[in-house]
Amino acid sequence: MTTPAFDVRPTTQATEANVRAEILANPGFGRYFTDHMVHVRWTKDDGWHSGELRPYGPLTLDPAASVLHYAQEIFEGIKAYRHADGSVWTFRPEKNAARFRDSARRLALPELDDETFIESLRTLVRQDIDWVPTPASEAEESSLYLRPFMIASEKFLGVKPSKEVDYYVIASPAAAYFKGGVKPVSIWLSSNYNRAAPGGTGFAKCGGNYAASLAAQQEAENHGCDQVAFLDAVENRWVEELGGMNLFFVYRDGRLVTPALTGTILEGVTRDSILQLGRDAGLTPEERPISIDEWREGVNSGEISEVFACGTAAVITPIGELVTEHERIGGGSEEGGRIGRQLRKQLLDLQYGRTEDPHGWLTRLA
Ligand SMILES: *Cc1c(COP(=O)(O)O)cnc(C)c1O
Repeated sequence: MTTPAFDVRPTTQATEANVRAEILANPGFGRYFTDHMVHVRWTKDDGWHSGELRPYGPLTLDPAASVLHYAQEIFEGIKAYRHADGSVWTFRPEKNAARFRDSARRLALPELDDETFIESLRTLVRQDIDWVPTPASEAEESSLYLRPFMIASEKFLGVKPSKEVDYYVIASPAAAYFKGGVKPVSIWLSSNYNRAAPGGTGFAKCGGNYAASLAAQQEAENHGCDQVAFLDAVENRWVEELGGMNLFFVYRDGRLVTPALTGTILEGVTRDSILQLGRDAGLTPEERPISIDEWREGVNSGEISEVFACGTAAVITPIGELVTEHERIGGGSEEGGRIGRQLRKQLLDLQYGRTEDPHGWLTRLA
């Protein structure tokens, strides 16, 4: 499909304005969905076709559909932001489109071209524009979270790439990730589980990675922690990332260090944007391996002043403490994180159109 075209079949039972307003007043995250979804079908013989916007609703899937058995599935996460003039924008969608293609190749799924990917977001947001929250203030970081995903739907129990695939986009209004302001989170360092191994699927945004992280997340919660951090699977020594967020270390001398992309780390759009904003702010970004020993020693000596995690959903989250079987390592002496807070504000100001967009990162959707 090179010319994106979606048949638009709107619902005749749209959510009533007062019900929608009630939802938008307190949407939480990932609990409510808009009135429509986008669907594009792929078959081995015909490629991508039958792009449509249709009412949101349950899928009909054969019980033998291969996604249900072998997890041939990928997804994306990206937000639509309403600006003060009412227009709706998204952030670096070409990065998500490229990552979606990378994920597709790794999972032996068909690649969707970038124009169709971006046009699918635009089609859904235009139809459901009334679902894009209008933040009442800067503190109210509400947005419409968009979830494109692709599943293997062929009815066949053999282990091989599906000859039938479906792509969908759904949308969910989202409040600020942190109610009542950003608070430092505690992190459990998993010693029983790894998230990704060399040659595996760590760089791909696939459901299987998340399924494999849930036991580690439970372990974190059993130890009173909010999130789990993973080390590399070979030496169990190099810090990689959290279950769904990348990591940054701020050094007192202005270095901004994040683990290098080695194939086992998800290439976050937020991560990439922070490297650029850090450089713009006069910090010295470094992408390189960082060991758990460097974290411990850096925090203890005061050389590391802040540690934070980042991703589309929570933007930037300061890390208060790292907990392991044997020890507790702090998140840096800078309580709550001055640099992290500053980068967070810069990123949000840009996304909500409150500052210049010097890198051309915004794309208008509606
Ligand atoms: C999605 C994701 C991130 C963050 O990526 P963003 O593009 O910044 O949202 C980080 N780690 C993992 C494992 C992810 O799935």
